[in-house]
Amino acid sequence: MFDTLTDRLSAVFRNLRGKTRLTDADIEATTREIRLALLEADVNLAVVKEFIQAVRERAKGAQIHAALNPAQQILQIVNEELIEILGGAARPLRYAKKPPTVILLAGLQGSGKTTLAGKLGKWLKGQGHSPLLVAADLQRPNAVNQLQVVGERAGVQVFAPEPGNGIGDPVAVAKAGLEFAASKLYDVVVVDTAGRLGIDEELMRQAAEIRAAVNPDEVLFVVDAMIGQDAVNTAKAFAEGVGFDAVVLSKLDGDARGGAALSIAKVTGKPIMFASNGEGLDDFDAFYPDRMASRILDMGDLLTLIEQAQKTFDAEQSAKAAQKLLQGKGEFGLDDFLQQMQAVRKMGPLSKILGMMPGMGQMKDQIAGIDEREIDRIEAIIYSMTPAERANPKMLDGSRRARIANGSGTKVSDVNSLVNRFFDARKMMQSMAGSIPGMPRKQAPQ
Ligand code: GDP
Repeated sequence: MFDTLTDRLSAVFRNLRGKTRLTDADIEATTREIRLALLEADVNLAVVKEFIQAVRERAKGAQIHAALNPAQQILQIVNEELIEILGGAARPLRYAKKPPTVILLAGLQGSGKTTLAGKLGKWLKGQGHSPLLVAADLQRPNAVNQLQVVGERAGVQVFAPEPGNGIGDPVAVAKAGLEFAASKLYDVVVVDTAGRLGIDEELMRQAAEIRAAVNPDEVLFVVDAMIGQDAVNTAKAFAEGVGFDAVVLSKLDGDARGGAALSIAKVTGKPIMFASNGEGLDDFDAFYPDRMASRILDMGDLLTLIEQAQKTFDAEQSAKAAQKLLQGKGEFGLDDFLQQMQAVRKMGPLSKILGMMPGMGQMKDQIAGIDEREIDRIEAIIYSMTPAERANPKMLDGSRRARIANGSGTKVSDVNSLVNRFFDARKMMQSMAGSIPGMPRKQAPQ
């Protein structure tokens, strides 16, 4: 859904690569591009205006940070502002202190409520709950049956009025469903309600009536993200007419431009709690603004990595090493290798750090082979080398390696394996350099 937006934004950041400082004109040009990209993605105009103003002000006021280049700084600001318009922190489902927790689904017909009931039921079961789905959509002839089918697929019990039993009142069904849940010890009740094709007073009245009858802990407004700005307008109307606690975005897998998804939290002031991205019951998850933002910016979790790096790295030292590595200024030697490894170790387990880096698949095996404790051994080996050897490992012939193994209490094969690994890593890192946004490709050594 966000592919075009992602491409447009990547192009904006690519234009900033290689810049060592940002002028006001750069900031103006960049924010203009971002503004166009967002408008083209169908993001609400008011939201775009506010977003751009925030980015512009923050970019102008940004401190020159030794560890980040201008492209990375802007990227970080855009990322934080995106998270902000997506609602800030994730908003988890709130359970009632005294079960059952009652969740009411509201939204237009076709928005995906019934499907969502099944997805939510399965998800709740996965979280160790015992959910009950209540079929209070008596408007659409097939709705009850559809919920029963979905419930069966999800392996979740459905409470439905008996056909021909004269129960045509959704409020009565919802109440009966609640009583049933309490008596059978279901701890979460999901009430599916009727939708209409458009916003009308009758729909609002009925939803408000069910709401009053079941006193839900959460009213979730389900909206089809593919209907563009209509989604935002519908959400506004529902917020005023019925009121809701959080939004569920459905059909994020569609090829619409995605602007609605990016506007709805800001326009309604309500968080997005879940997102659906397919017809299958598993195409569904809790919504995390930060993950969505980094998906839109196509960063893997690079941003998290940048943040951790900022906290842990000695900025100047690592900038020097990075420059050596990326620009071929001076030779990246074993001292730098060790330094980077020690800095990386401070950031957390290697496997976790690697998982956060985009394009790291090929390097994973290489580094997964490095036991965290082995770093101590590597340290010992490197410290047993002379400065000249560390700077230029190519000079390590057989007799030097034997001396180093002896000095560090290791075997020659350990020294060999470290040196080989170093050369591999250096090669890999150099070829990777160009794929990290904002970092220059390796240039020929000067
Ligand atoms: P309701 O009228 O609000 O109950 O909506 P339904 O649950 O019946 O969904 C309407 C249609 O949208 C159905 O054909 C669903 O299979 C489909 N649908 C629901 N959620 C999604 C989704 O996340 N992605 C896609 N592609 N289709 C969905």
